[in-house]
Amino acid sequence: MRISYIYKMENFKISNAAEAFLKKEQHDFFINNKWVRTDSPKTIDIVNPANDSIVGKISVATAEDVKNAITSGKRAFQNKVWRDMSPIKREQLLHNLADLMQDHLIPMAEILTIENGKLLSHAKSEIQGAINTFRYYAGWATKIEGQTIDLSLRQKPGFKNFAFIKKEPIGLVAVIVPWNFPISIATWKLAPLLAAGCTAVLKPSEVTPLSTLYLAQLFELAGFPPGVVNVITGDGESGAALTSNPQVDKITFTGSTQVGKIIGQAAMQNLTPISLELGGKSPAIVFDDADLTAAAKGVALGIFRNGGQVCVAGSRVYIQKKVYDNVLADIISEGKKMNMSDGFDEKADLGPLVSKKHLESVSAYIAKGQEGGAQLVSGGSSPNRQGCFLEPTVFSTTDNNHLIVQEEVFGPVLVAIPFDNKEDALRMANDSRYGLASSVWTKDISKALQCVDALDAGWVFVNSPSRSDPNLPLGGNKNSGIGRELGKEGLYTYLKTKGVNIVY
Ligand code: NAD
Repeated sequence: MRISYIYKMENFKISNAAEAFLKKEQHDFFINNKWVRTDSPKTIDIVNPANDSIVGKISVATAEDVKNAITSGKRAFQNKVWRDMSPIKREQLLHNLADLMQDHLIPMAEILTIENGKLLSHAKSEIQGAINTFRYYAGWATKIEGQTIDLSLRQKPGFKNFAFIKKEPIGLVAVIVPWNFPISIATWKLAPLLAAGCTAVLKPSEVTPLSTLYLAQLFELAGFPPGVVNVITGDGESGAALTSNPQVDKITFTGSTQVGKIIGQAAMQNLTPISLELGGKSPAIVFDDADLTAAAKGVALGIFRNGGQVCVAGSRVYIQKKVYDNVLADIISEGKKMNMSDGFDEKADLGPLVSKKHLESVSAYIAKGQEGGAQLVSGGSSPNRQGCFLEPTVFSTTDNNHLIVQEEVFGPVLVAIPFDNKEDALRMANDSRYGLASSVWTKDISKALQCVDALDAGWVFVNSPSRSDPNLPLGGNKNSGIGRELGKEGLYTYLKTKGVNIVY
């Protein structure tokens, strides 16, 4: 049953390129610059969460399919066409890709909205951000550097050491990404690893693979040699076949903490280096001296944008007691103003959640939140309409150990907690198994900097909700992950170090 295409035509006009792409009966794997169909017995239907219609079908990669993709990526690394290409040529190819993405921004954004539910304006920003990231790392391809170092090794009289550290691409990288920002997150990994001279096998989420498959065709058009980027589709089993393969030289994963731990264990069987970007339960702290209107708007934006399906979403807010009621009322009012609708509707502020399964999971957390005694002060229900919609939801509690304060819900669900003083707020903010992002709202710069020092998180934003930038490293402490991506650190994670000494 392929009703979405007709639905789209009836309701919203989409570009010819997106329309042609969505007309495909089944989507193939992209291996060695070729579209490959295998006889995998399992397929998955891709569903538009705004109207529950099926918009595509993918194959689930078998162990054999995964092996073929790995062979292609490994060969492309070992034949050195890519790693020995001059850095300026690699830079040029990354710019070619960015140019093509710019030309294809609209169809890619439309496909992303259709498979994920996010607002079309957000999907466009996501693709634009990915283009900027490819351009940012294009510039790094020509700036990779090692170091000369002094050694104390004694040599025969008349002889000296000339020692240096050389940086080399790590090899074939297994890239596994989630559904919330399929193009951004894939790019945060692909752009630096390609700049470094590595090759990749990418597996997008089985929930949102279509925009990534659309992107895959652009690598060939941009002039990337065969096998440098390979894209397979599939579920957790396909992902496990990829991450447990000893031919893989590095694993980079973004997703849930639960799956991150499983992949970490698989990686250690082969001692494969691994970067993990995992879950979060990021705190926002609002002091009574803040610009309270800006704080309420920022906190609401920080949790409700993209339906709260953002790893760095500020999902718990600590508000100083004196201003608790007013700030909470303003946050609630921001949520109530949001118009829930299909991402293609220009008047929409909030699209659906990504899937029925995810809506059920978020709704179950809301029920558990109420059972556990937190007060539901706004939202909590799904409107009576087609699609996976959920109202912006706010809880209030004084119990920092409450499940709704401690567990990652990954939906438009905020919990507010009052605090007396800075120490109180920081203690509760850090009392979490996660440590991904955080925000602080105050006009007092000393207080802001004291919070920057004290917060156990990979990001601290002051007077702003979290926002990514290609030059700002992102990553988590504690159960939020291992390593950083983006920025210079995000490049060097795909380079290995070789120490060399020449006696002369
Ligand atoms: P998920 O962990 O369920 O799946 C992520 C990916 O892993 C998917 O491609 C899936 O097919 C694959 N996978 C599942 N089981 C696997 C296995 N055993 N071996 C290998 N691969 C496997 O996550 P999700 O539901 O897609 O995404 C939501 C989660 O991602 C949230 O917890 C969120 O916090 C996290 N996230 C983190 C960041 C960050 O930067 N820290 C960014 C975005 C999302």
